[in-house]
Amino acid sequence: MADERPQSSSSGAPSAPGASGGPRPPRSGGPGGRKFFRRKKVCKFCVEKIDAIPYRDVRLLQGFVAESGKIVPRRLTGVCTTHQRRVTRAIKQARNIALLPFAARH
Ligand SMILES: [Zn+2]
Repeated sequence: MADERPQSSSSGAPSAPGASGGPRPPRSGGPGGRKFFRRKKVCKFCVEKIDAIPYRDVRLLQGFVAESGKIVPRRLTGVCTTHQRRVTRAIKQARNIALLPFAARH
């Protein structure tokens, strides 16, 4: 049995696909109307017709709380003012019963 390996030591050209070089856009498109990003400006609570934010739903609330414990501003969450207020309230309630951490003190 021959344990031979095909060694190509002639031209050592390491082929690293897409390792170096800046990120290139796939295509230089002009001012077209292509929008792949879903930029919903609609509040998810409005969409789901959720009126009251359940403060016991920690998983839901965690989506509105940053890692530091701060409440994520409405601009980032995308919910409407009404629901953001309710979320804030729910988060505060959840904090009071120790479901969520308080904002990190500095
Ligand atoms: Zn809403």
